[in-house]
Amino acid sequence: MSATPDAAQLDDMLAALRKWLDNEVRPAVIELEHADVYPTEFVEQMREFGLFGATVPAEFGGLGLPAAVYARIVSLISETWMSLTGVINSHLMMAHLTNRFGTEGQRAEFLPALAAGDLRGGLALTEPDCGTDLQAIRTTATRCEDGYRVSGTKTWITNAYRGNCLALLVKTNPAARPRHAGMSLLLVRKGDGYRSDRKLPKLGYRGVDTAEVIFDDVMVPADRLLGGVEGRGFAQTAGGLELGRINVAARGVGVAQAALDAALGYSAVRHTMGKPIGQHQAIAIKLADMACRVEAAKALTGRAAEAFDAGRRCDLEAGMAKLVATEAALENATESLRIHGACGYSTEEHVERYYRDAPLLCIGEGTNEIQRIVIARQLLERQAAR
Ligand SMILES: Cc1cc2nc3c(=O)[nH]c(=O)nc-3n(C[C@H](O)[C@H](O)[C@H](O)COP(=O)(O)OP(=O)(O)OC[C@H]3O[C@@H](n4cnc5c(N)ncnc54)[C@H](O)[C@@H]3O)c2cc1C
Repeated sequence: MSATPDAAQLDDMLAALRKWLDNEVRPAVIELEHADVYPTEFVEQMREFGLFGATVPAEFGGLGLPAAVYARIVSLISETWMSLTGVINSHLMMAHLTNRFGTEGQRAEFLPALAAGDLRGGLALTEPDCGTDLQAIRTTATRCEDGYRVSGTKTWITNAYRGNCLALLVKTNPAARPRHAGMSLLLVRKGDGYRSDRKLPKLGYRGVDTAEVIFDDVMVPADRLLGGVEGRGFAQTAGGLELGRINVAARGVGVAQAALDAALGYSAVRHTMGKPIGQHQAIAIKLADMACRVEAAKALTGRAAEAFDAGRRCDLEAGMAKLVATEAALENATESLRIHGACGYSTEEHVERYYRDAPLLCIGEGTNEIQRIVIARQLLERQAAR
């Protein structure tokens, strides 16, 4: 059993992470990312830092970090290479769901192995016909004598190819009305017999794998039904997505900050008309707007993480953080590329990667269109409750 690090140990850990990112990851990222190579060595080093168990409680061998600290780590890594956070984010989402909703046996079976990085997990919700409208999924888990017989296809599943287990959203009762009453989560292992052999080609977020997963009459033991009761999968998933949105917001903070830092650096050294471009008002205004976006994103992400750590319902806060931080990443990446002129378009520079990575943040963990709906709904509910 490990113990949650104290403040001094955390400072040391963040300093060590920063050093590792600057000295080892940054010099290698352009080549690895363009080759779309899984960063095995870096993943192993993340395991040594304990990041596979970052938010897993210490009693199960994790670091037991609060979401606010984990969000800082995610932002820090994303400033250098966002893809590395993909290896741990959906893994930790699976761990979070297992810890929050799992039976004692499920926690004991999965959490120590997930925290150690022996099990590498993901969250399998999306299907070829539906992502936003999760209640329309078609993957079925039919109860039979030996457990559940699972059939269906999931797609766009991060860590499915390299990982070895998933929290899988299924229909245990496809005829149920309302539709969510027939949905459940299963904890599945590759050894059960599912296949994931097609990695999907992507605009950005390369290196980390995102893949199709095929269940062709796969038998899953009955005791892998998360929480042991059917029909709770949709609510469990929604509960888990609060943390997921904080994670994505934290990535947005990192990418927005990296884009700003690159723009500030370039604006000081690139001269036109006899002065650094940062001294032209048109560029200075962009820099100011970019810095404001970073600070707004940081503040909202910190507020959402604090609410989460305090055990408060935080779908409004997490939705706002996700929306603002990811749009900040997208806008800052675009502005940084433009400030860099032709250099921004070069595949030998980091800036074009921010520009390719940022759009994913506006799509994953609930698109930003949906975040706006979630935010408005919450505001109206809170107004009505006054
Ligand atoms: C790189 C990558 C990694 C991913 N990793 C995972 C993963 O690990 N696990 C997983 O389960 N999924 C993953 N996804 C899938 C992701 O969660 C979905 O793409 C996302 O939920 C959106 O679903 P969709 O693509 O089916 O879009 P759709 O749901 O088809 O939406 C299409 C468009 O319509 C809009 N829209 C839909 N419904 C409404 C509405 N009611 N009101 C207003 N607008 C609406 C959407 O905002 C979007 O603009 C990943 C995706 C990518 C690109």
